[in-house]
Amino acid sequence: MFIIHGAYHFWPKRVAFRDDYCLSCQAPRRTIAFRTFDVGHVFWIPILPVGFWKHWKCTACDRDPHVNPRTRRSFKWAGLIVLIGASVMLWEIPSVADFGAVGWILRIAAPAAAILLLMHLLGTLKEPSLRKRLAEIPPAADMVCPFCATPLTAGTGPRWSCPACQAMRY
Ligand SMILES: [Zn+2]
Ligand SMILES: [Zn+2]
Repeated sequence: MFIIHGAYHFWPKRVAFRDDYCLSCQAPRRTIAFRTFDVGHVFWIPILPVGFWKHWKCTACDRDPHVNPRTRRSFKWAGLIVLIGASVMLWEIPSVADFGAVGWILRIAAPAAAILLLMHLLGTLKEPSLRKRLAEIPPAADMVCPFCATPLTAGTGPRWSCPACQAMRY
C-alpha cells in the first residue's frame, strides 16, 4: 500500500543567508535558511512533532539547493544491477519452443538497457561535484541584513550576523 507521508513546516523564520550553488537552477544562487517547527504527517494527519529544523531554500526556485532534481545516482546503480541480473536470468532459461518473440525481445532489450545505463552513469561521472562548484563561489559579503536592512555586525569567527533579527551570514 502506498502511504502518503511528509512533514509540515510551521512558523518559518529566516535565520541565515549565503551565496550558494543550486542544483535545480544549475547556477550560483542566493539561498536562505528557514527555521521551522516540523511535524511529521501520515495522510495529512500531524502525528509526530520533531522540533525545530533548519531548511535551506533557493531564492530563485524555492527548492532545497543541494537536492539533485534528477534521479539519484544510487538509484540508477541499483537499476543497473537489476538489469544485469534480469539479462543473466533471461539467457540462463533454456530456450524452449514456446519462449516466443517476447522472450527474445526481452533477452536483447535487458542487456541493451543495461549497457545504455552504464554508459550514462560513466558519462555523468565527469560532472563537477557540488563541493567543487561551492568552492568556486565567493562567500556572501553583504554588509547589511537582506531581511531587515540593519547593518551586520561581526560575530565570533568569520560569521557576521544581524543585531536586529539575528540572521546569520554564511
Ligand atoms: Zn534554485
Ligand atoms: Zn536582520
